[in-house]
Formats: sequence, C-alpha cells, structure tokens
Amino acid sequence: MKLDISHMRYMTADDFKVLQATEQGSRNHEIVPTTLIHQLSGMRAQSGTNRSISDLAKLKLISKVRNAKYDGYRLTYNGIDYLALHSMLNRNTVYSIGGSIGVGKESDIYKVSDKNGTEKVMKMHRLGRTSFTTVRNNRDYLKKNSKNGVNWMVLSRLAAQKEYQFITLLYAKGFNVPEPFDNSRHVIIMELIRGFPMRRLRKHKNLPLLYTNLMKFIVKLGCSGLIHCDYNEFNIMIKDEDHIDPNDPEELGFVVIDFPQSISIQHKDAEFYFKRDVDCIRRFFKKKLKYEPKDDPTMLDTDGFGEGYRYAYPDFNRDITRTDNLDELVQASGFSKKHPGDRDLEDAMEEMRNTDEADEAAQEENSDAENSDEEDESDDDEYYYSESEESEDGDDVNSLDEENERIIEA
Ligand code: ADP
Ligand code: MG
Repeated sequence: MKLDISHMRYMTADDFKVLQATEQGSRNHEIVPTTLIHQLSGMRAQSGTNRSISDLAKLKLISKVRNAKYDGYRLTYNGIDYLALHSMLNRNTVYSIGGSIGVGKESDIYKVSDKNGTEKVMKMHRLGRTSFTTVRNNRDYLKKNSKNGVNWMVLSRLAAQKEYQFITLLYAKGFNVPEPFDNSRHVIIMELIRGFPMRRLRKHKNLPLLYTNLMKFIVKLGCSGLIHCDYNEFNIMIKDEDHIDPNDPEELGFVVIDFPQSISIQHKDAEFYFKRDVDCIRRFFKKKLKYEPKDDPTMLDTDGFGEGYRYAYPDFNRDITRTDNLDELVQASGFSKKHPGDRDLEDAMEEMRNTDEADEAAQEENSDAENSDEEDESDDDEYYYSESEESEDGDDVNSLDEENERIIEA
C-alpha cells in the first residue's frame, strides 16, 4: 500500500479531531454513525463536523458506508496511517518521511527523520495483506467470523504493539536489536541499521565466529524466555563494516529484527520452532556460505568474545535454561491471553509462523538444487535497504514543512 502523506499539511486541527472521533467510534461500531462522530469529536457545530467529514472522505481517510439501518463512516487504512503519523509528529519522534526501504510480507518499511535529521526506520504493520486469504481459507474460526470480517486493522495494531514491547525489553537487556523509539497504533519507529540482510552475504571474514554468535543469540533469547520463530537470513541485518565498533565487547556485527511472531518458551510448540530457527541458519550457512560446523569442544572460550559455543548447534532441551522471564513480561504467545483480540492475533501469527520466510527459504533451497547454485540476488531487492535516489533531491520526500509544524502545535 502506498503511503501518501501529501495531504497532511492541508489538514486542520478539526479534521484530526473528526478523524480521531471516527477511530474511537470504530471500537464499538463497524460503521460509525455520523451523529456519533460529531459527539465524539467534541466540536460544537454539526456543520463543522460535516465539513471535516466531507474533506476526510475526499482524501479517502474515511469512507462512507451505506447500511440498511443507517449511513456512517469507516476509517480507512490511509486514515489510520495519518493518525499514527500525526501522533508521532506531535511527540517529535518523526519529522519527515523519506523513501520506502522495503516491502515486507506483513509490513511496509520507510526511512524517516527526526527533527535533528537523524534517520530512523518506520515499520507499518499491514496484517492481512498476504495471510488474509490463507488464514481465511484455512482457519475455521475465521470462517465462522467471516460474516463480520476480521479486523485486520486491530490485528496490525496488536502486532505492532507486541513487536514494540519485544524490542523495547530486548534492547534494554542488551540484545542486539534496533533501538525502539516510538509506537502509535500499527506503526513503530526504530533505529536504522546500517547494513544489509544476511541473505545477501556471500563472504565474511570470520564465519565460525558469526555462526557462533548467531547461535549464542538464540540460546540467550531462549534462556530469557523467547523464541524468535522467524530467525533467518531475511531478519538478520549484517552491519556495514564502518558501523561496527571494534572496541565494544557486545558488538556482534549483526542486529536481529522482526519480532511480532515470537513466542514464549512455554508455548506448546516451542521446541519445534526453536529447532526450525536453528535449522534455518544452518541451512543458509551450508548452502550459501559453504560452512557446516562440527561439534568442537575446543570452541569453548576460544572466540575472544567471552564464552564460546561448544556444540555445532544448540539443542532446546540441553541448552535452554531459564535465566529471565521476558516472555511473561510481554505476555508472549503461548503464555497468556489477557487482552481481547489476542486470540485473533495469535491465530494470525501462527499462520504467519507457518507460512513465513522460513518456508520460502526452504522452497528456495529446493529450487536452488534444481537451478544448480546460481546467485539469485534479483528477487531480494524488495528486502534490501537502498538509498532512494529521489529521496535525495526531495521529490519523493513528503517533508513536513512549516505548515505541518502548525499542525503539530495545534
Ligand atoms: P516483515 O515482518 O514484513 O518481514 P521486517 O521487520 O523483516 O518486516 O522488515 C522488512 C525489511 O525491511 C527487512 O528485511 C530489512 O531489509 C528492512 N528493515 C526492517 N527494519 C530495519 C531496520 N531497523 N533497519 C534497516 N532495515 C530494516
Ligand atoms: Mg522480515
């Protein structure tokens, strides 16, 4: 979905009040009646609400729905994008939006800047874009619910909140994940990792060390109570050489991203997902980097980064001994279902876990076997961080100028 924020600068404070009111009303109404929008907006004159409604509908931030009983409005994906951006602009965590970095399966990724010009990453969760049909076709509960439709907007918001909670806790505990900056609705803002997805890696100056550190990462994550569940070459960013700090003992040379589908080690299938994560890395190292480690007791304490890893690959029952309870802190899947909607999120996430990039990697392995072992760089462009040319001269950048600052202050 294209993100077009060019209209934001022309919107008034009243327009945002009405947009917010529509959002609020959608919590209890599939179609929000005009009278309720007016009531919730807190505006005095119905004519003012009507004017804003008509402007918002023209901008496709809300859409009119005719219902048997009454006419009303529904918030669109554009509308919720605008609301999230508006909140983050007000909090000064975002100042301008740059080009698209990538289109993930369930998200759109953009480069943004804050007021100081520091570049960051904005991840907009878009659940349902791909898994919609799969989930709908395969899952009984959705068939039952399909009369009312699945609220993918709510699920996208829950997924973003969950990911934000995960990386906030993990970052605070010193894990190599992007620094989190903000979350509003289905959007999170985090540190821009200067590097590239491991998928593009073909040479590395110390493969055994990289492999060891990748395995140590998931063991440490597991001991803290969590399993990533999509731990593969798409979701590991290899840092550019000039952004690696040689004096930092915690420096691993990579950063792990993409956490919404992570689960607790208490999940019933924890061992299965843990093993799958391990296997994804091993498969990538074997196929693309021609590195296949063997058990080696001498690996212990020999990597110069503290404790080494003695085994060729970790084992769930042998290596995961709980030292922390991050899962309980975020109520990771398989642990608690406290919030309404979590059940739906968990079902959607389970679908994602089972149809995600890990499977693609496996499929690719098969096609690799058929097509000898040719490089296949072309199809990963959408995941690859590239400096957008247009974004340099500002054409493609909907910078938020003075007029927007007015909105911020409003
Ligand atoms: P999805 O859940 O859709 O797979 P990801 O979080 O994996 O979304 O992001 C998709 C792609 O966007 C990644 O493969 C990576 O190339 C890029 N990306 C995501 N987060 C960052 C980040 N913090 N820094 C740099 N690039 C990122
Ligand atoms: Mg990903």
